[in-house]
Order: sequence, then C-alpha cells, then structure tokens
Amino acid sequence: MVFGCETPEDQIVPNARLKGYSSGSCTAGSFSVNFNNAVFVTGIGWSTGSGRQISFSGSCNGCDWGPGVYGWWRNPLVEYYVGKSGGANRGSYNCNGSNYTLYVDRRINQPSIDGTQSFDQYNASGARTGTIDMNCHFNAWRNLGSVGNQAYQVVMAEAWSNRTGSANVSVSGANWYTHWTDGGSATFNCGGGGNPGNPGNPGGGSKSITVRARGTNGSEQINLRIDGNTIATWTLSTSMRDYTASTNSSGGINVQFFNDANGRDVQIDYIQVNGQTRQAEQQSYNTGVYQNGSCGGSNSEWLHCNGILGFGNTP
Ligand code: CA
Ligand code: CA
Repeated sequence: MVFGCETPEDQIVPNARLKGYSSGSCTAGSFSVNFNNAVFVTGIGWSTGSGRQISFSGSCNGCDWGPGVYGWWRNPLVEYYVGKSGGANRGSYNCNGSNYTLYVDRRINQPSIDGTQSFDQYNASGARTGTIDMNCHFNAWRNLGSVGNQAYQVVMAEAWSNRTGSANVSVSGANWYTHWTDGGSATFNCGGGGNPGNPGNPGGGSKSITVRARGTNGSEQINLRIDGNTIATWTLSTSMRDYTASTNSSGGINVQFFNDANGRDVQIDYIQVNGQTRQAEQQSYNTGVYQNGSCGGSNSEWLHCNGILGFGNTP
C-alpha cells in the first residue's frame, strides 16, 4: 500500500506491482468485493483507530483472511489482525470471554500504509467474529508489546495468494473505506451490491469521474466534490495516478486540496467525466494556485494552497 506517506520523495521505494488504491466515504456502511485471481485488501471502518467496540456481519468466499478487524499504527509502524496467527508468541490474554494469544511477525520490505517498509505484524490468535473490544486488545498489546499512534482501523477482507471469490461486509457505525489491489482484479462496490464498477470505484453511480493527480510530498489529500458534497477522498502519491469515483449526483464538479502544509502541493493534470477530458490548466476557477503573490488565480494545474479547482458541471 502506498498512501499517507510522509517520507521524503527520494526515500520512497515504489511498489512495482501496485495496481490501485482508493479510500473515502461509503455511507451505506457496507461493501461488496468481487475478485478474480487477485491480491487485495478491502475494509470499511474508521480512518483513525480507537479502543471502540466493533460489531460486524458478512462473509467471504475465497478470501485468504477475513472479514475481521484489522488496522495500523505508526511510531512504530505496526499492522494488526484480530483472529489470525503467525509469528513469535508474546503471551495470552482474555477479551470478552475469549482467549487470545498475541503473535508478532517481523515483516521485511513489505507493502505498508507508508510504502514498502519493514515493520511488526501483530496477530491476535483467537475469535475473529463477534463483537471485538479493541480497548481490551490494545491494553493487552501494551502489556505484551506496544501500541503507537493510531492510523486506520477497519473490518477487512483480504487475498494475498491470487484468489477468486467474493465478500460482503457490513459494519455498525462505519463509513470510511480503504480498497487496495495489487494483482488480478478486485471490484469494489459500496453498499454491498449493485453493478460491478471499476476497481476503486466508491460510488456505484452512473457518472464516472477520474481525477489524474499527484502530490509533491505524497501525503496530500484531495476531495472530489459534486455540488459541494464530497463523494470521494484520496491520498495522493508523488507520481501521477488516476483516481476514479462514480456518482448519480449532479452539479458543479470540483477538486479540493485540504491538508496543505510545508512541502505539500497538488498537481492535477486533468479530470475525465464519462471519458471526456477537461484539462486543469484550461479552468478559470482555481482558489488554490499561488499566483501574483497570493492564493487564487486561473489556468493552472497546481493547488499550492488549500483551495478548489472547478471543472464545470456534471452531464
Ligand atoms: Ca493538463
Ligand atoms: Ca503548499
């Protein structure tokens, strides 16, 4: 996985196999994924983890793992699974009447939320389903290891060995999704059904919008908005990539850069609306470009400041 990267550009090790990544809002609180000869990680939950109680339903036919609770933290970088084994035994504990054993597996140069890295994987071997009490798990893991700064936390389904099948997952109170594919095809649909869309398609609507963009730092985030409503949120990488969403909404299309900081700028090459290209440098409404000594101008691919680039209306 390559997103949320705050590493200097010259230290990023690209993952040559990376096929696609998207994250954003999936207000239905559920998803389905249909996969063919695929390597993928797809989850719905929260962009920031906590000691919450997590209830979910769903199943997977053909997954290597899941659905189950999964997440990451930083400082130190750790990937965790509840209901999976593998690694060195760090000790046992009890949560909600179930026995768990924490196994820690050192991962060397593997895909992570911060690009290819070496990191520990925490595997809590025990019940995968039922209500998962993350406060209980985090307390046990603090005693047996450590817990860092929370990154995302989702109920996830995964294939790592070129699997074919389908999954449906529904999570109470959750609407943030992450969808990563790294081989084969894995088609994500928000809401647990409907017609298959493109990989990384969070909307399931009839109008397809692709944004081609990059960031200078690799931690920049953008919203795709229709008529002022955000329909997808993406974290950019330092190389130009296509980010696709679909919607049934109508109105003005704009792209918003919202987490500007030192060293962060966004370059948008163009968007495509149902396959029709609209170049960023041909648009007159741009509140984020730095021109003539201040933020705001026109006819530029750049958003140097937090701001909006307008691309006209939907069909
Ligand atoms: Ca362009
Ligand atoms: Ca900037």
